[in-house]
Amino acid sequence: MQHRIIVLGAGYTGAFAAGRLARRLHPEDVQITLVNAEADFVERVRMHQVAAGQDLKPRPFAEMFAGTGVELKLAKVTAVDADAKTVAVTGAGGAETLAYDTLVYALGSGWTDHGVPGAAEHAHQIASRPGALKLRERLARLDAGATVTVVGGGLTGVEAATEFAEARPDLKVALVARGGLGDWVSPKAQAHMRKVFAKLGIEVHEHADVAEVRADAVVTADGAEIASAATVWTTGFAVHPIAAATAIETTDRGQIVVDRDMASVSHPDVFAVGDAGYAIGDAGVPLRMSCASGIPMAQVAADAITARLTGAKAGKVPLGYFNQCISLGRTEGLIQYVTADDQARSVSLRGRFAARYKELICKGAAWGVANPTYGMPVRRRRTARAAERTGTAVKALA
Ligand SMILES: Cc1cc2nc3c(=O)[nH]c(=O)nc-3n(C[C@H](O)[C@H](O)[C@H](O)COP(=O)(O)OP(=O)(O)OC[C@H]3O[C@@H](n4cnc5c(N)ncnc54)[C@H](O)[C@@H]3O)c2cc1C
Repeated sequence: MQHRIIVLGAGYTGAFAAGRLARRLHPEDVQITLVNAEADFVERVRMHQVAAGQDLKPRPFAEMFAGTGVELKLAKVTAVDADAKTVAVTGAGGAETLAYDTLVYALGSGWTDHGVPGAAEHAHQIASRPGALKLRERLARLDAGATVTVVGGGLTGVEAATEFAEARPDLKVALVARGGLGDWVSPKAQAHMRKVFAKLGIEVHEHADVAEVRADAVVTADGAEIASAATVWTTGFAVHPIAAATAIETTDRGQIVVDRDMASVSHPDVFAVGDAGYAIGDAGVPLRMSCASGIPMAQVAADAITARLTGAKAGKVPLGYFNQCISLGRTEGLIQYVTADDQARSVSLRGRFAARYKELICKGAAWGVANPTYGMPVRRRRTARAAERTGTAVKALA
């Protein structure tokens, strides 16, 4: 009997993990099912570009997984029963229950309004493709002079505001940040960010908390009203509630708590990667929701599962940070070098070169998902159970 591996979610981390497992395990010994709601890979890190009107290269999973042995199931995951080892899904054929031996949970995250009144009704989000497409339509209908207000001064807010201001110089773009603009990068990088914001004419409201979102304005905690024909909410991500509704140990935010192998601390047959997993990096601090840490998490999980099933030794993949790559529109960017625990160093790259570097990183991330062994030849190993059954030594396929 084949070992049944189910991977939930085909974003950066689930697709990577499924593809890597398929390339490292013998197809006769394992059945790898990848469940995803959509038929093509979504480059989530480019959702601000989609909202700004850019079209992305289509990346159908049928092409990405052709010949790999990964079976793609187009369905929505509705529940997981980690004790019964089953997953409930709903697809074109209706509701179904799938049984697994090993589960990789990679459902990613969506946006959160943090309970701010009016945000759910009036704000747009770019954490998902439907959200980005809805905002794109809204921006296309806005007349010259209308204000687009981006709430959130983190990476996503900064990228979104600059992208919109560059693509639509006829609009007024504002950014509302709880702290100071770019106060998490080095002084030189921050100065560059401010210069680009000024060049693009983006109005920045610093040290401001948004207390309410209205149809035509955002209101800050101190009562100031900022006119807004379209409000874009980028104050952080929240995981889907599915994991928290299971017996699996999760954090207060609903992320699955995992060990260094990305295995759940309560259910070792469940692995969690990407935004859905709560892992501690090598520097001793929790990894943040990002591709930068999610893809290494997926590699660790795939290799740990391979090791567990075949007896092969898993190599050590570093879990830490190296740089933050920030686009400031299509022609400007910032590469901020950081410590392993994500704190800014003094070194940064700025300007056109940084924009090109960031573009390469985005392309590289999508390429890595389709090439999860990074082009290196790998052996497809027999599982220890299969070798035992057939009475042969554990073998590998070239
Ligand atoms: C605009 C933007 C810019 C970003 N820029 C950066 C950046 O520069 N660098 C960086 O490191 N990170 C960046 N991020 C964060 C990064 O995109 C996420 O951390 C990353 O996508 C997480 O990968 P994941 O595989 O965990 O989840 P996702 O990529 O979100 O994939 C989850 C998958 O699960 C599917 N799914 C979800 N729920 C269900 C369900 N119930 N049933 C079936 N399928 C489901 C989704 O359709 C999706 O395919 C950015 C995010 C955004 C929104």
